[in-house]
Amino acid sequence: MATTERFFERLRIERGASFSLATFDPGDTCGVEISKKEAHTRLAEEWLTRLTQLQERLWAQDRWAILVILQGMDAAGKDGVIKHVMSGVNPQGCQVTSFKVPSAEELDHDFLWRTTRALPERGRIGIFNRSYYEEVLVVRVHPTALARQKLPPRLVGPDIWRQRFEDIAAFERYLTRNGTVVLKFFLHLSRQEQRRRFLERLETPEKRWKFALGDVVERRHWNDYMSAYEDMIRHTASAHAPWFVVPADHKWFARLVVAATLVTALESLELEFPVVDEAQGAELEEARRQLLAE
Ligand code: ATP
Ligand code: MG
Repeated sequence: MATTERFFERLRIERGASFSLATFDPGDTCGVEISKKEAHTRLAEEWLTRLTQLQERLWAQDRWAILVILQGMDAAGKDGVIKHVMSGVNPQGCQVTSFKVPSAEELDHDFLWRTTRALPERGRIGIFNRSYYEEVLVVRVHPTALARQKLPPRLVGPDIWRQRFEDIAAFERYLTRNGTVVLKFFLHLSRQEQRRRFLERLETPEKRWKFALGDVVERRHWNDYMSAYEDMIRHTASAHAPWFVVPADHKWFARLVVAATLVTALESLELEFPVVDEAQGAELEEARRQLLAE
């Protein structure tokens, strides 16, 4: 356990000023040398068991909320992380929201509007499958997406990305001050591995549906996306809302990192079941007595 907790420390970015994506290898497993099968067992037996217990306390205590943000290129494994890591969680205490191209109604509002409505309540884990970070990623890579946002022209200038970073950082500061723990994961996939996964989708009948023609088009903008991701992490990594750069070429490893990070964050909250005070204790004892007497 101790070794697993140490390995991801390096992946946690709290200060972005000198962040360089080039120093992170998507194929890295941070010295963890186990088979896929072992990883699966470790995920289930070690991390997911703890996650289940912690989530029960989170729910019972009803004070903190957890916001998990998943970002990554197509086929980076966001869906797989949700499916596998969250299999340890009671569905009642967990909600997943996927953010797609904004609707007409959403474009009529400020960019945080649609995400604000989907924030997790106290006691819950909320997962954003993509998030308001798309506003400094896809929208930055494609100027036409910004043009659709109906912003007053005088507000759209070269400073717009810096302003969005500032607004996002301020928003996350606000959330954390109100009891939402913000954990942001960038599933860092290599271009070659994306190609391999796309081909696999195309060549496996049960996976073909996952392939969207647009995905190949986005792939052509790979370098622009990587620069946008790097700049985003530089400007929005903070101690209260860190980024985790998760090597994602090995699915088993990415899942382990996300699960371990989530568990560690929950453990740091020192969650306890609410304690029954003396007066409530007496009432409960009376209820028990009545039931026994039936
Ligand atoms: P999958 O793994 O199924 O492909 P996905 O998250 O890529 O999952 P899609 O339905 O393919 O889901 O597409 C979501 C698309 O919506 C992405 O291409 C994303 O960039 C885009 N999108 C999300 N938020 C915004 C936004 N604010 N503005 C413009 N496009 C956005
Ligand atoms: Mg997609």
